[in-house]
Amino acid sequence: MKLLTAEESMKTCVRCGACRNVCPTLNITGREADGPRGRVLMARSLIEGNIPVNQEIKEQLDRCLLCSACVDACPIDVQVPDIVMLAKERIAAETETAAKTDIKKPAYPERTFKDYFFDHVLANQKRLNTVGNLLWFYQKSGLQTVTRGLGILKFFPEQMRQMERITPAILPPSRRKHHPEFTPSAYEEKEPRGRAAFFHGCIMDVMFRETNDNSIKLLSKTGFDVVTPNAQVCCGALHHHSGKKDKAIELAKANIQAFEEENVDYIITNAGGCGSALAEYADLFRDDLHWLERAKAFSAKIRDISEIIYEKGEMPAAAGRGERVTYQPSCHLQYVMKVKDAPAKLVKQISNSEYVDLPEKKYCCGSAGIYNLLQPKLANEILDKKMSRVKETESAVLITANPGCFLQMKLGVYREGMEDQIETKHVADYLMESIERAESAGKQ
Ligand code: SF4
Ligand code: SF4
Repeated sequence: MKLLTAEESMKTCVRCGACRNVCPTLNITGREADGPRGRVLMARSLIEGNIPVNQEIKEQLDRCLLCSACVDACPIDVQVPDIVMLAKERIAAETETAAKTDIKKPAYPERTFKDYFFDHVLANQKRLNTVGNLLWFYQKSGLQTVTRGLGILKFFPEQMRQMERITPAILPPSRRKHHPEFTPSAYEEKEPRGRAAFFHGCIMDVMFRETNDNSIKLLSKTGFDVVTPNAQVCCGALHHHSGKKDKAIELAKANIQAFEEENVDYIITNAGGCGSALAEYADLFRDDLHWLERAKAFSAKIRDISEIIYEKGEMPAAAGRGERVTYQPSCHLQYVMKVKDAPAKLVKQISNSEYVDLPEKKYCCGSAGIYNLLQPKLANEILDKKMSRVKETESAVLITANPGCFLQMKLGVYREGMEDQIETKHVADYLMESIERAESAGKQ
């Protein structure tokens, strides 16, 4: 749990500037207002009532990716994303209640859709699965081919057209049923490396079901007994970042309850964004001692899949196809969960593949939850810069460790017209495919 609340933390910034050169938005625009120091000053002034809430301030704060790179660089741990979120909560509250404000309220249908999607779809796996079924039908029925062929997509905003292009192939409903409740370690003759519960996420389990299936297999292959509780729900990260703290608390309670019944050593995630939200559950319960203790015990078990396999697992033989590979870290994984190198270290253990470090990998790719949809111009500028670094590596495989980063990097590859040259992969898929390649080579 963080030592200070956002309100306390904002008063500790000494304006030293040590955070300046890690901030992706400042790196692009060069404007102090687009950097951590400027944002802390602006948010503090607003929270303390020294400047009025207005559209310009709102837009400045909305441009923060909440990536936490600045927190990692700050010598005194100033919690810039929490401070920005608190200021955004104040702006949202003021917008609702103030009679006179120049803040543009989202149009009624947009607000209703967003509220419905966050509260009743993301938070309800059954409904999310129905959305998955519709997407699968769109992709498999020929509707996608017809839509693209007739040029219907040109009537949609550019960002939506691009997302349609990069949406992964959804598995059929028959392959998206419940995960097995228990998958034993594949090392039958040895003691398991631990009992791990798998957190499958909400969108992850619909859009990236194959990655989730591979993650369970990978944990088993590397020596863990795996349980997958069916009562788990969305981690609540998007709700919390969008100011829906009550819903985030409701989801956190459901997850704590679902996992504490399992008596496991670790709770494993394969998405940096979800993992960091789960690891910070205690911050949601500062005023609720009963849930605070339960949240702390829950969060203490959270591990990223690469971290746990690298530290405690037994990686079997794995073989590549002679390709060059690079890795774009998830910000939440490297800055909040502090898992900096584990995915790259595992990839380096694969024979017949060459790992190259991505220059400037400290910078966010511009995905940041739904930032690329809300701030498309700046997100694309950040992405284009990232892609110029990816191209320097001349890699054929681009590894990611979070679904948002996966989609954003896939979008970058698409925008560069390099879909034939660069394959975007989640680290769990890449490791599992390499293990299976080595296994089938061993049988021949
Ligand atoms: S946030 Fe931290 S690193 Fe940045 S200016 Fe303030 S004290 Fe310095
Ligand atoms: S959270 Fe990221 S984008 Fe926001 S100020 Fe910090 S480094 Fe910059």
